[in-house]
Amino acid sequence: MYRYLLFDLDRTLWDFDGNADITFREMFGVYRLQELCGVDYKEFHDYYRAVNDVLWEQYRAGTLAKEVLHVRRFMLPLEHFGCTPDRVSALTGCRSVAALSLQLGDYYVNEGPRQTGLMPGARHLLDYLAGKSCYELDIITNGFSEAQLPKMHSSDIYRYFRRFFLSEDLGHHKPDPRFFEAVLQQLSVRPEECLVIGDDFAVDMVGAQRVGIPQLFYNRERRYQGPYPFRPTMEVSSLCDIERIL
Ligand SMILES: [Mg+2]
Repeated sequence: MYRYLLFDLDRTLWDFDGNADITFREMFGVYRLQELCGVDYKEFHDYYRAVNDVLWEQYRAGTLAKEVLHVRRFMLPLEHFGCTPDRVSALTGCRSVAALSLQLGDYYVNEGPRQTGLMPGARHLLDYLAGKSCYELDIITNGFSEAQLPKMHSSDIYRYFRRFFLSEDLGHHKPDPRFFEAVLQQLSVRPEECLVIGDDFAVDMVGAQRVGIPQLFYNRERRYQGPYPFRPTMEVSSLCDIERIL
């Protein structure tokens, strides 16, 4: 009955956290951030993640511009750890903390998508689904457009998908119902012909449910414990389990 499988990308197929960690560690060394900020990788990265989560929420809600997010998520940690323009200039050659922040933002967005790590079982699942002629596999993702397609090419999963729905192109981010309505409209299908497969309850499941699309919640290792405002149509704790369903 499901004909269109609408896959989220980050943390559902592409190992966002593992890949980001590799990139971030490289960047931490290249830009001498330990010397610059006087903290180790973990402390800097933990602070960055907390800041980034808040800024991304604002970006998703449409209250923060992409260009501001791009710079501010690095500028705030640099300032928090007492990074001064003089030290930035001496150690990196950048003229200001803002200039360094922009370079870090560019490095992260350019280098991150080169990473190839996938979530456990992702390739096996995609091979399995590709072998069934009854499904069309499509991507629905919120990430920056310039990053999302390269990620799929780097990790060699682009070829499994027919269409790519990027929030920047559609003008709305998940879980905004307008994102999902645009997907349905472009596919010219009814909600019940689709299945949204994603790892983020508040983004993927809530968004799909709002427009009546059935949901398959990839709750990795049952890490998400609620709250459940509703029960998703299906829930699995590993991608392998999906092969028993579809
Ligand atoms: Mg995700």
